[in-house]
Amino acid sequence: MILHVDMDAFFASIEQAINPRLKGKPLIVGSRNSKMHTVVCAASYEAKRVGIGSGMSSAEAFKICPNLEFVAAEQSKYIWTSRQIFQLLKEFGFEVLYASIDEFQIDIRDTPNPKLLAEEIREKIFKEFNITASVGIAKNWLLAKLGSKLNKPNGVTVLTEGNLEGVLERFPAAKICGVGKSTAEFLDGLGVNTCLDLYQKSARFLEQNLGKYGINLYVSLHSTDSFDSPEVPEKPKSVGHSYTLPRAVLNPQFIKAWIRTLSEMVAQRLRQDNWESSTVHLWLNGPEIGNFGAQKAFQQPVNDGLEIYQRCLKIIAKLGPKLPLVRAIGVTCSGLSKSSYLQPLFKEQIRRGELLKAVDRINSRFGDNSIYPAVITLAR
Ligand SMILES: [Mg+2]
Repeated sequence: MILHVDMDAFFASIEQAINPRLKGKPLIVGSRNSKMHTVVCAASYEAKRVGIGSGMSSAEAFKICPNLEFVAAEQSKYIWTSRQIFQLLKEFGFEVLYASIDEFQIDIRDTPNPKLLAEEIREKIFKEFNITASVGIAKNWLLAKLGSKLNKPNGVTVLTEGNLEGVLERFPAAKICGVGKSTAEFLDGLGVNTCLDLYQKSARFLEQNLGKYGINLYVSLHSTDSFDSPEVPEKPKSVGHSYTLPRAVLNPQFIKAWIRTLSEMVAQRLRQDNWESSTVHLWLNGPEIGNFGAQKAFQQPVNDGLEIYQRCLKIIAKLGPKLPLVRAIGVTCSGLSKSSYLQPLFKEQIRRGELLKAVDRINSRFGDNSIYPAVITLAR
């Protein structure tokens, strides 16, 4: 059995737990600290009840509810809480996976009383953080995730062989994770309206109508394996690149362009295997400075070349306002962790992530360096 924990209105609940004045009130968390010109990235249940939801513009939300409370998102707070919850869940002794910043999957194997376990988990989270979670339990992660949504907020749904079909019958197919609006409409046209309709379709039917995605959907709905464990590539200690210039150079623009180039190369390799790095090491060699090397650890792990470059600049700042003569440069990233579990919170980050994905796709199709940041041309 898989037990799926989904925190209720996570960011908004954290804000309400921290500041009791916000408790019981309609509240939105905005992605930027500009009350009327931002996007709702979380809404409390009091706000959801009047029709406010994430993705909406804050102006629109205030139109619906003029006495809305507003807090600007503070990512580190949510990440910290998420990590604490992850640790708390691990104490129950089962394997735990991150599904997103506020969702966790636990392989509870054949625990005799899963409902009781769910209540214990929810109680412990509430005691520790004063926020509520909803839980779904089922034979696989997709149905467990669905279950966690069916009794929200602050509820538990156990899907057993006995009640599964009865429950699935009551909800539209779009409730299933991955079935988007257009897929749902398409399925509707085929007479597949409820979760149960979808569940009862054969692998062949789903493949014929939805292609490879249909097969995946079928497998995910019916599998009884514990976690599908994708192959994890062996974890390297660090990823680095270095370059020796034809001669020692004083031009700071040129040196920085090379640091950026190396940062991009490192970042691309990190992304290839889904790693992120929290520690950057910059190494410079030159006639005046000999070997200069320094590293800096940051709280937020990254795999974006621009960000790695900016971190290198922070290290360079140690050398004073002027750059010395440089002959060779090295950028190395360590402190590696898997990058998949935290989805970006903010529009800007999502856009940046999509940009990087597009760049990687272009380069893998048309060859390395088919596309790169313009500043790098300075190094050529
Ligand atoms: Mg949630």
